[in-house]
Amino acid sequence: MYKTKAYSAASATSPLSSATIPRRDPTDRDVQIEILFCGICHSDLHQVRNEWKEVMPTVYPCVPGHEIVGRVTKVGSAVTKYKPGDLAAVGCLVDSDHTCPQCEAALEQFCPNMVLTYNWADKHGTAPVTYGGYSNSIVVDERFVLRVPSNLSLAGTAPLLCAGITTYSPLRHWGVTKGKKVGIVGLGGLGHMGVKFARAFGAHVVVFTTSPGKTEDALRLGAHEVVLSRNADEMKKHAGSFDFILDAVAADHDINAYINLLARDGNLTMVGAPDKPLAVNVFGLIFGRRSFSGSPIGGLAETQEMLDFCGQHNITADVEVIPIQKVNEAYERLVKSDVKYRFCIDMASLKSE
Ligand SMILES: [Zn+2]
Ligand SMILES: [Zn+2]
Repeated sequence: MYKTKAYSAASATSPLSSATIPRRDPTDRDVQIEILFCGICHSDLHQVRNEWKEVMPTVYPCVPGHEIVGRVTKVGSAVTKYKPGDLAAVGCLVDSDHTCPQCEAALEQFCPNMVLTYNWADKHGTAPVTYGGYSNSIVVDERFVLRVPSNLSLAGTAPLLCAGITTYSPLRHWGVTKGKKVGIVGLGGLGHMGVKFARAFGAHVVVFTTSPGKTEDALRLGAHEVVLSRNADEMKKHAGSFDFILDAVAADHDINAYINLLARDGNLTMVGAPDKPLAVNVFGLIFGRRSFSGSPIGGLAETQEMLDFCGQHNITADVEVIPIQKVNEAYERLVKSDVKYRFCIDMASLKSE
């Protein structure tokens, strides 16, 4: 075991502050990574404040962060894919059982024995739970480490590990390609990546937003059209026309207004997670054989595919880079959606603490 610096929360009401945490010494299959950048995902804030206590109560101290990019510093004797000096990334998963049908299908995100990057029982026993990326160093099984394209900005790459794969995976799963009409609801950390991917896949992209101020940005990010969702006439023009809609809104909203925009056999997938149930009008699904679904992150192979795709197409997240000392302020701004479009922590700032 060794010690490394981190930022952790001591309780649901404490700010994040400087701490020292234990990490395991790399085993034969492990890769030790010096963390250079870590994105701030809205899930980090929910977990730090124990807002998901019904499904995954937070164990304190809590070190969040699952959008990790860094450089390999040490590898175990059985590691074949990485060597010291390589760039490497870690997303939301750090382990699974490798034997269940989900793992065999390369869908580790559905493995009943998956291990999340933070706030999950640590099977190595280094600490009660896993600790995430708001830290200078992490040790991860080689099979859960990803290669980083060398041509991308590292700060802009970090958010691909959660916001990127969370939008890439459903767009791929539902067959978004050239000639398809795709809607993206909500232009935040997830939505802005959805726009970039849908555009890169060749689709006709329409962004739905409640803020007229976001129109110009949506077009810059790659949208062909922007619809103000509060304008009923504008919405009506698109009735029954979408092959696929990706909904990244985490607050309560009128989901039926979007279901009615789907074409026959169209699908609406939720990647935003409102904490209260949404009222779905089933008639909207029946007439048109439309479907309504959800999707979480992606498996390891698909996450690598996404990173490689980003390298080939020069896609990164739009980030505001902050030092770790500004993380609590960033959380307050995140609550107000005051970020374009993802905060990313420059972990060099933690070394000076
Ligand atoms: Zn996340
Ligand atoms: Zn499994």
